[in-house]
Amino acid sequence: MYAFLDELRAETLVIIDGAYQEYAAFKDSAKKIIPSDIIRKYPNAIYTGTFSKAYGLGGMRCGYGIAQPEIIQALLKLRAPFNITTLTLKAAIVALSDEAFVEASVRENFEQMKAYEVFAKELGFRVIESYTNFIVLEFDASKNSAEIAQKLMEKGIIVRNLGSYGMNAIRVTIGTPEQNARFFEAFKTLYM
Ligand SMILES: *Cc1c(COP(=O)(O)O)cnc(C)c1O
Repeated sequence: MYAFLDELRAETLVIIDGAYQEYAAFKDSAKKIIPSDIIRKYPNAIYTGTFSKAYGLGGMRCGYGIAQPEIIQALLKLRAPFNITTLTLKAAIVALSDEAFVEASVRENFEQMKAYEVFAKELGFRVIESYTNFIVLEFDASKNSAEIAQKLMEKGIIVRNLGSYGMNAIRVTIGTPEQNARFFEAFKTLYM
């Protein structure tokens, strides 16, 4: 990322989407991004974060941006008045102060991810190493990811078919232990 930022001209605005930053930093501290350091070194950068993932507020539609004052001033001119609800704002403020929740949610994510890695190994699928709250299961030619995604959907489990990326793979969001057990069960009955 720094090599990329170094290449850019000073007038090129760049957005660094940190949606998964809490996960990546937990798994590998070398991947931790400190927004204030970035915008100091690269005044043309905006760091964005969200409350939808590690903070557990998906559906509240609340995120934030950190950038130099000139950039924020320019953005404020475009921002619609009252663009988030007061309830959302309250939830986000409370979430920010609950570091223990974020820590626990990220820790559980990676504990549960191990179950997917074990599952994939047992069934002979490849997984792509993940620094996020989802994992990619890749299949050999004997299986079809579109069909797998469709059949899981019929059982009430929504995964993302990655066929459009030219992959025979699905992306599965890591859930609670109960949700993950349901996925393993459904998957096995479909394909064993
Ligand atoms: C989840 C996510 C976001 C933010 O989602 P919101 O719910 O709109 O806050 C941004 N970028 C990526 C890559 C994401 O996965």
